[in-house]
Amino acid sequence: MSEKAAFTTNDFGNPVASDNESLTAGTQGPILLHDHYLIEKLAHFNRERVPERVVHAKGGGAFGELVVTGDVSKYTKAKVFQPGARTESLVRFSTVAGEQGSPDTWRDPRGFAVKFYTEDGNYDLVGNNTPVFFIKDPIKFPDFIHSQKRLPGSGLRDHNMQWDFWTLRPESAHQVTWLMGDRGIPKTWRHMDGFGSHTYQWVNEAGERFWVKYHFKTDQGIEFLTQAEADELAGTSPDHHRQDLYQAIERGEFPSWTLKVQVMPVDEAEGYRFNPFDLTKVWSQQDYPLIEVGTWTLNRNPENFFAQIEQASFEPSNIVPGIGFSPDKMLLGRVFSYADAHRYRIGANYAHLPVNAPKNKVSSYSQDGAMTYRFDSPETPVYAPNSFGGPHADPNIAGDEGLWNFDGQAVRAGYVEHPEDGDFTQAGTLVREVLGDDERDRLVANIVGHVLGGVEEPVLSRVFEYWKNVDADLGKRVEEGVRSAQ
Ligand code: NDP
Repeated sequence: MSEKAAFTTNDFGNPVASDNESLTAGTQGPILLHDHYLIEKLAHFNRERVPERVVHAKGGGAFGELVVTGDVSKYTKAKVFQPGARTESLVRFSTVAGEQGSPDTWRDPRGFAVKFYTEDGNYDLVGNNTPVFFIKDPIKFPDFIHSQKRLPGSGLRDHNMQWDFWTLRPESAHQVTWLMGDRGIPKTWRHMDGFGSHTYQWVNEAGERFWVKYHFKTDQGIEFLTQAEADELAGTSPDHHRQDLYQAIERGEFPSWTLKVQVMPVDEAEGYRFNPFDLTKVWSQQDYPLIEVGTWTLNRNPENFFAQIEQASFEPSNIVPGIGFSPDKMLLGRVFSYADAHRYRIGANYAHLPVNAPKNKVSSYSQDGAMTYRFDSPETPVYAPNSFGGPHADPNIAGDEGLWNFDGQAVRAGYVEHPEDGDFTQAGTLVREVLGDDERDRLVANIVGHVLGGVEEPVLSRVFEYWKNVDADLGKRVEEGVRSAQ
């Protein structure tokens, strides 16, 4: 660093005379308005925050790399998933309902938002640490989140409101069972799996189409916190998960996950025992086993948390040729809402920020707007079609984004029920067939503890009914646990 650079400047590089005293009219006089350095400092300070995310406000993240070790080329032509491909990546982990300063160890699903900087532009897989979700139609999303946040009058969180919503929307049962179990509070972000959660479409070179679900299986092993451990850490180490990831990477302990997929030929969707587009259901791994894609490793911390993590944008609308959407209504809602959230939160040109910009050249006709940073040469036409050699769309990739048939009739209706669908079926399978006795005991204790945190009639009776519908014995134990503590 040169000696000159060691002097403070204002934001425009002009040297400043003092970091300590404002300009005043005499030692007791008023502060002078033309102390532009003071004004700049105070005004910029007032603008240091952008609006926090309405959901997933508290988080942390890191950079890394996906290395494709398997061969899924018969299912997708996406370059990012071809054998041997290496792609730079960014992740942001988060809680859902808590605000920016909230403890990392509150019981909540964890966001697991991944960006791949591919040669065909950014591909974002914006998932969670659970394969399912509380609701299956995006029209319910604002209501659901309101019920998990705070009461309008007191500004307090309210378990009665949470359980009221959950029990009135019983499709939540699978996700709530997961949430109340051990995996509802991961020990660290390194010790949890990630899921794309939604059903996506893959298209191969021959134009054949498949439905696909993504699983990131942690190589560190699943570990969790008990409710008591999490409660203590919420007080003593509220940034526990953010700190753990940062420090592990600083130590050179790079966490990794094995990326796997379940693949369903499109023709099998209609006859599958569960509706494969319903986000409250999984596809059984007995029916569609996991297929290995590659290793995803986190190896670089952000240099600046605000610039690279707080301003990072992830949006399921970022897709690449060979990957598309599906009739999963939650996915289709999110394809709109994520990009829209970033336009509001960061600004129209949020894609110009280095962390959000793709590594390949952008040739779009978007222009101007607040904070324009990227621009083309003056010769580049600003409209299409044009006669001056400007970029044009590639008709050869039509269909590569995935298409599907629908009947064209506008309706407001739930998903078509498949033979084994039902709000409580898979939650019951989880309780009876996956969890061990210890896990079931902790599930009961966690539910009872949560319900005792303020759930009142008539919601309380519905809570008992809800759990009896998941599993009769579990419901009985929850009711007994709550009644005996009242
Ligand atoms: P499998 O026996 O093939 O798979 C069971 C799955 O449950 C594994 O992915 C396992 O993850 C996971 N699991 C184990 N313990 C817990 C826990 N405490 N909380 C949440 N998940 C856990 O069965 P199926 O695929 O037929 O699914 C049966 C049930 O398992 C489903 O109804 C669903 O509730 C649950 N499940 C299913 C998943 C899927 O994608 N099919 C994914 C995760 C859960 P691991 O291998 O990491 O131990």
